[in-house]
Amino acid sequence: MQTDFLIIGGGAVGLTSALALLQAGYRVTLLERGAAGQEASWAGGGIMSPLCSWDYQESVTRLTQRSMGMFDQAAALLHATTGIDPEYQRSGMLLLPPFQDERATPWCAQHQVELQHVVLGDYLPGWSDYGLFMPEIGQVRNPRLLRALHRRVEMLGGVILEQHEVQSFNIAGERVAGLQTSQGRLSADAYIVAAGAWSKTLLGEHALNMDVSPIRGQILLFKFDAPPFSQILLQGSLYFIPRRDGHVLVGSTLEDVGFDKSTTPAAREELLQRVHALFPDWQNHPPVRHWAGLRPGSKDNIPTLGCHPHLTNLYANCGHFRYGVTMSLACAELLLNEIEGEPQPLPMDEYRWL
Ligand SMILES: Cc1cc2nc3c(=O)[nH]c(=O)nc-3n(C[C@H](O)[C@H](O)[C@H](O)COP(=O)(O)OP(=O)(O)OC[C@H]3O[C@@H](n4cnc5c(N)ncnc54)[C@H](O)[C@@H]3O)c2cc1C
Repeated sequence: MQTDFLIIGGGAVGLTSALALLQAGYRVTLLERGAAGQEASWAGGGIMSPLCSWDYQESVTRLTQRSMGMFDQAAALLHATTGIDPEYQRSGMLLLPPFQDERATPWCAQHQVELQHVVLGDYLPGWSDYGLFMPEIGQVRNPRLLRALHRRVEMLGGVILEQHEVQSFNIAGERVAGLQTSQGRLSADAYIVAAGAWSKTLLGEHALNMDVSPIRGQILLFKFDAPPFSQILLQGSLYFIPRRDGHVLVGSTLEDVGFDKSTTPAAREELLQRVHALFPDWQNHPPVRHWAGLRPGSKDNIPTLGCHPHLTNLYANCGHFRYGVTMSLACAELLLNEIEGEPQPLPMDEYRWL
């Protein structure tokens, strides 16, 4: 098999990396341990923004804002070319009290992000407080986005090999010479690790200072005949994401429990209590599904992006923690620039692999 790049991991990050490389004319093969698009990228909520952007460093803001700005066009193109609608929409996000207006307002003004002070009753019947509304924030329906990305990669000639678990790296001098996989040895000119929460474990000694570890998140899914509201709602760490067909995702937890992807009654109970405190009539409306995913946790939510310090043909695009779907397009663009030695539109220092 002749290929320029072997990408390890078929989540949003691996698939968007594959797309960027294919569009630049490279031959790409993506290796996925299970089925592509079934891990964190599937489990996530699909909010196209940090929850409270003012809680994060500028290096996170730069990546998320750049990526968010790319999604309108990218989602429309994916829909048009694959026939799969990722249901990307700028539904806006409504912050319910209590919130930190004194931090949100200046941050939004400084970053040219629209923020409106609104009467909540205009959005949620019976509510009288005021809220903060961010009309530009979008959302995507993750399973659909992943299916569209998968199809687009294949349409552009990319090869996706599922049930191919990468087990180890064969090193020759300062280069990766090949990968040992569950289906035999594979090689390419260069290699990209996009294995989400598993990236550091997979890399072993080659991870160096990369610090990526699994952080579990659990989500409850509700179903209504029609969407009970059309904006994303956020109260503290609790969010509600309404889909067009009446599904509402409610999440999530942040749990440091290793590679354990099971759901727990305790998390279900905690989420339900918070839901019922806001919407008492949902007590008669039990969730239809409960799932968990493992985020690729990283310090301060800053991903590792770029070339290995010693192995000249090994690259990383991993550790996007809570916002990997949001960041995916910009990270793929920056990765391609790194590979090609092109100038970057953003300062790269904080993302570098050390
Ligand atoms: C509950 C929850 C809510 C979230 N909400 C949001 C949100 O609203 N907005 C947002 O932007 N982000 C959100 N996220 C975060 C986001 O989902 C992640 O940051 C993102 O999915 C990471 O993408 P990834 O491709 O790196 O990882 P993954 O999607 O986990 O993909 C990694 C892939 O690598 C594969 N793999 C691992 N090891 C190997 C190996 N050895 N060989 C071959 N393949 C391998 C895995 O099987 C997997 O398919 C949420 C996450 C969770 C869990």
